[in-house]
Amino acid sequence: MIPLRNGAHLMLNKPGPTRTISVAILLCLLLLVPAGCSAQGNRDVASSADKSGEANATRAYEHVRKLVALGPHPSGSDAIKKAQSYLENELKGYGLQVSEDTFNGETPRGSVPMKNIIAELRGEKPEIVLITGHYDTKLQAGFVGANDGGSSAAAVLETARVLAKSEPEYTIWFVLFDGEEAIVDWSAMDGRDNTYGSRHLVSKLKTEGTLNRVKALVLYDMIGDKDLDIKREGESTPWMIDAIWRTARSLNYQKYFLDSEQDISDDHLPFRDAGVPVADLIDFNYGPEHSYWHTNLDTLDHVSGESIKIVCDVVIKALPDIFKHLDNPVAAPAKTIPH
Ligand SMILES: [Zn+2]
Repeated sequence: MIPLRNGAHLMLNKPGPTRTISVAILLCLLLLVPAGCSAQGNRDVASSADKSGEANATRAYEHVRKLVALGPHPSGSDAIKKAQSYLENELKGYGLQVSEDTFNGETPRGSVPMKNIIAELRGEKPEIVLITGHYDTKLQAGFVGANDGGSSAAAVLETARVLAKSEPEYTIWFVLFDGEEAIVDWSAMDGRDNTYGSRHLVSKLKTEGTLNRVKALVLYDMIGDKDLDIKREGESTPWMIDAIWRTARSLNYQKYFLDSEQDISDDHLPFRDAGVPVADLIDFNYGPEHSYWHTNLDTLDHVSGESIKIVCDVVIKALPDIFKHLDNPVAAPAKTIPH
């Protein structure tokens, strides 16, 4: 596996929408102070229509860097409020309608305030495809979750930015889940100390009677590893995985999307159990012998914007296939899942 690097996709040759923006980008680059690229500059660029149709590795990396710079941001922390503001401002900057799904997670340590963030992109149809990832970090001293929390949030943002000015066949909700991580232990509370945000959203949509509008869900998780290798997630819906893997192969990304299979418990399961076709894209092989996962080695230097870009691009380009499949439900047999 070739280690992936950041910065390979600066689109200097793309004309900016205005002279001011191009100059702002150039200034940031020339000064070589990414931290100094002001929020203003980012917002200007973010509000512009994406013409490439592709995610941008540098932008993806910058999202992770900014989230990591907030320090640990587990559910209910002061720092996660800053993460929420950042994510919401980005999504609004892309011209999307942003709403909050605020609730209390009943955890082994009591009630914890949590917030899912939802940005809507209206499509031709009212039926919805969800593109999702979590942004909370595991409750652990010093844990910043560059990959586990950071990369998934960055991928949702980048996918949203690229698609924001399009009118897709299906309505798309970009959803950032809170409370994916366990507060004490994944198996605590009879296995319910996890995936608070996705479980809450499913029950909320059920109560509102809108869950039947949700036709598919793509989940990003830990897709920022420099050494990107994603296995077919065995709990996901086979036709969804097939559509994404077919697209990956067509883009010559088969070395990142492996044919082997692995089962992962994650935010996709509450939706799958409610009858929604799902695909969990997760690289659960992070560092030597997976040693960066849930340790304080999950840091910015182990994450690549290029990896995030690759996964976003595959999903963006797989969407027409997914839509086509949804248009023809006869060809979409649901996997029978034992509960
Ligand atoms: Zn985790």
